[in-house]
Amino acid sequence: MNALVIDDNREMRRKIATDLQQDPFFERVVEAANGVEGIKKLSETAPDLILCDIEMPYMDGLKFLNIIRSKPETEHIPVLFLTGITDRAVKLKGLAEGAHDFIQIPYDPQELFARARLHAIAKRREEELLRRNRELELLSNKDALTGAFNRRHLCHTLNVELARAARTDGTISILMVDIDHFKQVNDTFGHQAGDHVLQRISAEIAASLRDYDLFFRYGGEEFVVLVPDTSLAGAMKVARRLCHKVRNLKFSEPFADLRVTISVGVAEYPGNDISSAEELLACADKALYQAKLDGRDQVA
Ligand code: GH3
Ligand code: MG
Ligand code: MG
Repeated sequence: MNALVIDDNREMRRKIATDLQQDPFFERVVEAANGVEGIKKLSETAPDLILCDIEMPYMDGLKFLNIIRSKPETEHIPVLFLTGITDRAVKLKGLAEGAHDFIQIPYDPQELFARARLHAIAKRREEELLRRNRELELLSNKDALTGAFNRRHLCHTLNVELARAARTDGTISILMVDIDHFKQVNDTFGHQAGDHVLQRISAEIAASLRDYDLFFRYGGEEFVVLVPDTSLAGAMKVARRLCHKVRNLKFSEPFADLRVTISVGVAEYPGNDISSAEELLACADKALYQAKLDGRDQVA
């Protein structure tokens, strides 16, 4: 495991680093004299653990913590504050802002090893889980957040369905659905609430469709509904029903005041200039853009 020790007091920093190296568990220990230097050394060190002082010049421990918690590539690295500060308010603030632990100086090296190992192991486990989740997601045809089919599966399905329609002189329509002003939902209620809204809307749309309609998450807050054996007029009806359902969706506290709408672009295969999956998607996307231009919460 790799550790990064950040302390402006050279002697203390050396002592912590040397102590830590007594534990064979930590193969590599890198030192930095303050938060700024710590940030610089992050990429070369790839630490499994950061031991950090709180009071330092240029950038103190709390500021350093804020920065690494704000970046996806470093947000999960455990940070342990090693400090002479006994102030309870500082400790609580540090923990609230994402420190994993506090170790009081002067520290007991055995206790330091024990806590440091614990956090470094938990971090490796978390990384392993994330890696496996990504692998599973690649193998799966479903989107993890909403349970809708994913975009990869859409490309495959569209090609299969279009080939079938071409063979049987059939018709397929698709709906391109985009949530209106979704950025505002995130900005007002936070990203987690945004995720919750995405799940609710997906569930509502999925429940409103017939068994043989297929529902895909196309991108962030965009979805595609594939309605087989259905002409444009029929698909427009489906789209208007979805708009109505989402418009009337009620959320529970703390988002009880939230109202969400969707805009939908509809396209039919085969049609003028529509002879492939790409062209069908492009046409639905163009219609969606029109629905947005015309004022949103509508079908085009
Ligand atoms: P418009 O009515 O024009 O569609 O406005 P909009 O705000 O919905 O469109 P815009 O494309 O500007 O913003 C889409 C937002 O969706 C921005 C992005 O942060 C958010 N988003 C995309 N994917 C996710 C997600 O998985 N979770 C959350 N919470 N937000 C997401
Ligand atoms: Mg949108
Ligand atoms: Mg969008």
